[in-house]
Amino acid sequence: MPVWIANLYDDLLLWLPVFRAEFLALNWFAIVLIWLSLFIITGYFIKPLRITKKSTEIEHRADLLQMLASGVLLAFLNGLLYLIIPQVILIWLWLTITPFALGLTTGILQFAFFREHRILENSLAIFSGNFYIEPGQTWLSGITRAVSRHVWEQPQTAIGHAAGQLLNFGGWISKVVFIEGITVMQGRIPFANGVAFGSFVLVTTRFSTRDDGNDITDKNSYLSVLIRHELGHSLQSRCCGPAYLYKYGIPSAMTQGWTEKDAEFRSDRHLLVDFGIVPIFSSYEKTYKKANAGIATYFLLMTASIAGLAWNGTPGLLGAYLLCAGIIATLNLGKSNSRIF
Ligand SMILES: [Zn+2]
Repeated sequence: MPVWIANLYDDLLLWLPVFRAEFLALNWFAIVLIWLSLFIITGYFIKPLRITKKSTEIEHRADLLQMLASGVLLAFLNGLLYLIIPQVILIWLWLTITPFALGLTTGILQFAFFREHRILENSLAIFSGNFYIEPGQTWLSGITRAVSRHVWEQPQTAIGHAAGQLLNFGGWISKVVFIEGITVMQGRIPFANGVAFGSFVLVTTRFSTRDDGNDITDKNSYLSVLIRHELGHSLQSRCCGPAYLYKYGIPSAMTQGWTEKDAEFRSDRHLLVDFGIVPIFSSYEKTYKKANAGIATYFLLMTASIAGLAWNGTPGLLGAYLLCAGIIATLNLGKSNSRIF
């Protein structure tokens, strides 16, 4: 056996009992209790819209057992990641709690002084989006979706939630709806007509004269079509997780190229296969295939992040991660998707 492997093995033997002791010393009761309560309380209030062939209607609540399983799983992963990358977890916590607290306090003040409850209601709804399990899917896929949002689909989930809370804090969000696994925040969105940060979607109401957009089968509504476009971006995020922002997000914001076609294809396809809804975009050829991130993308992100972490802790990890993100985004800016990353 080479010396370095023997050394690594010795290190591992020393490290394992320490890790086990730290793992057992975590306040598991509190962590599990917090995650469970968040799923159950928000799950009780969320009224998702259900897509049918002809319209969308209010759906029943998600299954209680699904909420419990998702809560326990996420509590476990949360504790585990806290031991491995504590600073990253603290940044995530700060990024989630601060904007929510801002929106919530402003909402409470607005209600106390002006009897107006829009900011308060929206702030709670956007926060609930973190724990939204849409009904009507299999037991396992509901849990997978809830867990994946917080693990696989990062950092877009944290950024999307924060962006929504901050816009609502400024009074720009008029309405929040839950549909097909995404939290749609409607209102005056700066810089763009629509943005999708994973399952958090922002859409403008600038071009809507009536309160439409609740029914995504209505192809005459600008807002509904916009939501269907952004759903496509959310599907890219569900599929490609940590690569989403760089593979699709940044190229989409900068060049509006192949990423848009890909999003519209995914949305049309998903709604047609799962709900029998007629496609509206069809901007793709019959032979079109989804452009996914390649194995090389995840390999690059993972090896560079681990190397960065080993070299210089959290700053090293974040630096290496951002460098790779830049490379992936640059290579995808062109007219077609990069075949390597
Ligand atoms: Zn787009």
